[in-house]
Amino acid sequence: MTKPCLKAFKFRIYPNKVERTFFARQFGCNRFAFNYMLEHNNTLYKEEKKHLGYFEMTALLPALKKQEQTKWLAEVNAQSLQLAVKDLDTAFKRFFDKKSERPTFKTKHDRQCFKVAQDFKFENGKLWLPKLKTWIKVKVSREVIGKILYLHISKTVTGKYYVSFTVSGTNETFAPTGKSIGLDLGIKDAAILSDGTRYENIKTLSKFEKKLKYAQRQLSKKQKGSKAKERQRRKVAILHEKIKHLRHDHIEKLTTDIIKNNDKIFCEDLAVKNMVKNHKLAKSLSDVSLGSIGAKLEYKAEWHGRVFLKVGRFFPSSKTCSSCGWIKEDLTLKDRAWTCQLCDSHHDRDINAAKNILAEGLKKLKDLSVCGAHSDNKQKQGETPSLEEPMTPEKP
Ligand SMILES: [Zn+2]
Repeated sequence: MTKPCLKAFKFRIYPNKVERTFFARQFGCNRFAFNYMLEHNNTLYKEEKKHLGYFEMTALLPALKKQEQTKWLAEVNAQSLQLAVKDLDTAFKRFFDKKSERPTFKTKHDRQCFKVAQDFKFENGKLWLPKLKTWIKVKVSREVIGKILYLHISKTVTGKYYVSFTVSGTNETFAPTGKSIGLDLGIKDAAILSDGTRYENIKTLSKFEKKLKYAQRQLSKKQKGSKAKERQRRKVAILHEKIKHLRHDHIEKLTTDIIKNNDKIFCEDLAVKNMVKNHKLAKSLSDVSLGSIGAKLEYKAEWHGRVFLKVGRFFPSSKTCSSCGWIKEDLTLKDRAWTCQLCDSHHDRDINAAKNILAEGLKKLKDLSVCGAHSDNKQKQGETPSLEEPMTPEKP
């Protein structure tokens, strides 16, 4: 069985000098269009309490292209400019829906990107863009399956270029395994399952983090505006990128593995944001990127026909004996293992928590199906921020 979905295929590209110049101009113009419309909307709101929607904003573009100071806007791809305005419109809609912060101005230090939705060609490992009209070499590492809806050209802070194709594709529903699991997102291990499976954090990460710390210290010592400072800044950016990729790969693999091997997945709804803000645990917690594990599990469950449900965060999963229900009130964060005083069961802290999450999840699922409220595998959204929200909202 297959389900429709949106998927992205991202590849490195190697633009030549002419192409790089064109990209730089398009990045700049898109940023200008985005910032111009944002400023315009901000002023309009301040003075007249008005807000412009997508069509009203794009209607301003032709006049800008005719003005002497901004006539360079006409030299780049017009649909990409409109899509930058569309991104702003989406960011405003998310803000009005209270899903994200108010949109902010883009700077040239942010990741640079632009979208193309029409008149491009992608053939034999080469990409052809309107207005640019040259064939760009693409390092294709896997076959692009599905209908391409649009593409993104991006440049990282370390100067690498990528193309990302968004396609409407289909996802295979995984065969039932008959297994349900509770999942405890931990500090020492990235994820612990109620059946005892542990997904560890990547060991190489701390090696690179040490390197990064050292590189950052060196950077702060370099003279402002010097070439050495620029070189060091690049080193820091490369290490950042490396760490980001390692984390991303690891989370991709472990979440796919969990979804493949289990029909029903239950996970504790931690107030990750608050914990990250308030605790000394902050670093280790954000290291395992708990938020993104939850978010990935949620959408992969939907893609592959699995059940994913969050269990209330005030439920004391660590303190409750999973065998008899006795609660160890004095359990501290340091206690990695404990023995129940009522039934004598010996517990690994995390596995016990995962078992409790599983039991609570199954109970909740039963309640939901009795009420008839459980029409799909998505949980009803509460008012409180949930674990599944990305910890830093993605930029439009
Ligand atoms: Zn017990």
